Amino acid sequence: MKSIYSKLIIGFLLTSLLSFSICCFFTIRSYNRDSDQLALEELEHSSNHIADLIKLIDDKNQDKILADYSETSEMSFTVTCEGQTKSYGHVNKKLILKDDELKTLATSKEKSLRSEGIISQYAKAFKIDNQTYVITVQKDFSATKDIFMKSYTSAAIIFMMTGSIVFLIVADIIVKPISRLTKVTDELAKGNYKVRVNYEGKDEISSLYASFNQMAVRLAKQETIRQQFISDVSHEFQTPLTAISGFATILKNENLTDEQRQKYANIILFNSNRLSHLSKNMLQLTLLDGEDTSLDKSEFPLIEQLNRVIEMEDNAALSKDIEIEFIHPKKEFIIEADESRMEQVWINLLSNAIKYTNEHGVVTVEVRRTATELQVRFEDTGVGMSQDAISHIFERFYRQDKSRAIEGNGLGLSIVKRIIDLHHYKIDVESQEDVGSVFTVYIPYEMFTGLTKKKKD
Ligand code: ADP
Repeated sequence: MKSIYSKLIIGFLLTSLLSFSICCFFTIRSYNRDSDQLALEELEHSSNHIADLIKLIDDKNQDKILADYSETSEMSFTVTCEGQTKSYGHVNKKLILKDDELKTLATSKEKSLRSEGIISQYAKAFKIDNQTYVITVQKDFSATKDIFMKSYTSAAIIFMMTGSIVFLIVADIIVKPISRLTKVTDELAKGNYKVRVNYEGKDEISSLYASFNQMAVRLAKQETIRQQFISDVSHEFQTPLTAISGFATILKNENLTDEQRQKYANIILFNSNRLSHLSKNMLQLTLLDGEDTSLDKSEFPLIEQLNRVIEMEDNAALSKDIEIEFIHPKKEFIIEADESRMEQVWINLLSNAIKYTNEHGVVTVEVRRTATELQVRFEDTGVGMSQDAISHIFERFYRQDKSRAIEGNGLGLSIVKRIIDLHHYKIDVESQEDVGSVFTVYIPYEMFTGLTKKKKD
C-alpha cells in the first residue's frame, strides 16, 4: 500500500519536473533570442571600431594596433582588401568567407551574420580612402552561455531544495492529523468508544475530527442502549420463566388438591401469555425499526376506527367499572394512514388509560379539530405520572411502577412512538400524579382528507 507521503512526494516531483522543463524550454528560447541580438550589437560595434582604426592609423602601425585590439577585446577578425586577407586572433577556419562571398558582400554592401556552435561571426564592407575593406569579426560566446547555464542550474537546485523542505513541512501538516485519526479509528474499531480527537483550526480536518467525535459519541450511546436492552430483555424473560418453571415443579406433586392444581396451572398460563405478548411486542418493534419499514397507507374513517377500538376494550373497562366517554364532531374524518398500525396506537393508548385508572374512574376519548390539525386525546382519571417518568415513558422497557404490580412490559408506548414517527405525526403527554394523564396524538391538516373536501366545497 502506498502511503499518502509517497503519493505526495511523487506528485511534488512530477509537478516540479514538468514545470521546470516547461520553464527551461521557454527561458532558453528567450535567452538565445536575446543573446543573438546582443552578439549582433557587440560584433557590429567592434567592426565599426576596427574600420575607424584602419581609417585613423597609418599602414605601418596598422598590423600591430589591430593585433593589440584583438587581444584586448578578445575578438578575432579578418580584414580583406584588394584580394588580400589578414587574420587577427584565433579565427575559426570554418567561418572564413569564400572569395565569391567576399565579392558579393563588398559590392552589395550587405551585412552577414553567421554562427558555428558558440562562435558568432559578423561581416560588413567599408569604404575607406576609396578602397573596399571587408571586416569579418568573430567572437566565442561560450563564456556568456556558461554563466547563464550555471546561474540557471543553481537557481533550479535552490528551487528544488527549498521546495522539498517546504513540501515536507506541508506534507507533515497534512499527513499527521490523518495518521492520528487512523490510530484512534483503530482504537474505536477495537471497542474503545471513549476515544476522541482534538484539533485546533477550522478546516476540512477539523470537520472530519468533529464528525469522528460525533460518531464515537453515538456509538458509545448505542452500545449503552444495546447493553441496557439485553439486560432488560433477559430480565423481562427471566421473571415469567422462573414463575413457569417454579409452578410446573409444584404441579408435579401428586398430593395437590384440584383447586390448587387449577390455581397453579392458571399462573403458568398467565406467565406464558405474558411471554408470548412480550415476544410479539419485541418482534413488532424490530419490524418497525427496520430501515426499509414502509407504511401500508390507505384512506379510512377515523371515528369508525376509534369506535371499534373502544368496543374492543369495553370488557377491560367494565371489569374495573370504568366509564369510557367518546366525544367527537358529528362529521366523519377520512385519514390517510396505515390502518392496522394506527389501530395498534389507539389500542395501546386506550388500554394503558384503563390499566392505569383505578376502579370507578373515567376514561375520555376525544377527537378535536383545529385549523391546522386533528387531535385525538386519551384522558384518564388514573394514577398519573411524575415529571421524571414522563421524560422516559417512550423508552423501551421503561415502567414507572418498578414493583411490576401492574401487568405490562414497557414496550407499548415505544411501539406507539415509532408508529407516530413513521407517519410524521406528533404525540405529547400531560400528567399529574394521582390526578390522571392525557395522551394527545396530532394529525396534521394535510394527512386527513375530511377538511380538505370541506374546504373545496
Ligand atoms: P406498559 O406495558 O408497562 O404499560 P407502556 O410502554 O405502555 O408499557 O408504558 C410505559 C410506562 O408508562 C408504564 O409502565 C407506565 O408507568 C406509564 N404509563 C403509560 N400510560 C400511562 C397512563 N395512562 N397513566 C399513567 N402511567 C402511564
